[in-house]
Amino acid sequence: MIGRRTGEDRALLPKCYNQETMRISGLQKLTLLDFPGKTAATVFAPACNFRCPFCHNADLVAGDENGAFPSISEDEFFSFLDKRQGLLDGICVTGGEPLLQPDIAAFCAAIKRRGFAVKLDTNGSFPEKLRELVEAGLIDYVAMDVKNSRERYAETVGVERFDMAPIERSISYLLSGTVPYEFRTTVLREFHDGESLVALAHWIEGADSWHLQSFVDSDTVLAGEGELHGYAADELRGFLPELRTIVPNAEVRGV
Ligand code: SF4
Repeated sequence: MIGRRTGEDRALLPKCYNQETMRISGLQKLTLLDFPGKTAATVFAPACNFRCPFCHNADLVAGDENGAFPSISEDEFFSFLDKRQGLLDGICVTGGEPLLQPDIAAFCAAIKRRGFAVKLDTNGSFPEKLRELVEAGLIDYVAMDVKNSRERYAETVGVERFDMAPIERSISYLLSGTVPYEFRTTVLREFHDGESLVALAHWIEGADSWHLQSFVDSDTVLAGEGELHGYAADELRGFLPELRTIVPNAEVRGV
């Protein structure tokens, strides 16, 4: 089955989603790590409303020097997907921030109709969209970045006069347990210490799953290579005993 969608996909959707083409900027054809328990591919949506200095996807967040993003057509993506029937279990939809895309619901519906599970990565800025997609049965698993304590959120996401309210609503919604989820935090010396991590742990107390990962530098980081610093693996694990008194399922990942 080649081609993007059918009227059937549209029928699954909340009425507010009509209808442009989903913008796709990248495709990783296989991941065994990103979707818990599933063999998956990852599709990257361009653009983000945050400017996290430690972001590794600088080209996806801001585009090239002309503000243009790489582009893969939906037909190309769904053609790939149709050839992976029976080989992949799921698709990770990441970015950038995928919920910025007006056509995200139709896109997820078209993936679901082909029998694949959908994992959504989000920065938590769009709690109402998140809820609509989950309640329409279009999302099987959510990974939300929780960037820092409330006090240090704005500097961590690189946005002045940051409105915390959507983040609060997304966290509350996921904590309600409507959909399987994980919280994720990239930990840096410049933004995190024991105090901010403990404050964040209290904020997400009751979480099913919280993964901390140390920042790893590269030449694609938004702030530029050499500007930011992660913690050594032992140092990061050293935070865990106290954090686990608040969020028992806290884990360190990728070190
Ligand atoms: S790390 Fe995520 S939320 Fe932050 S700028 Fe990059 S894509 Fe956006």
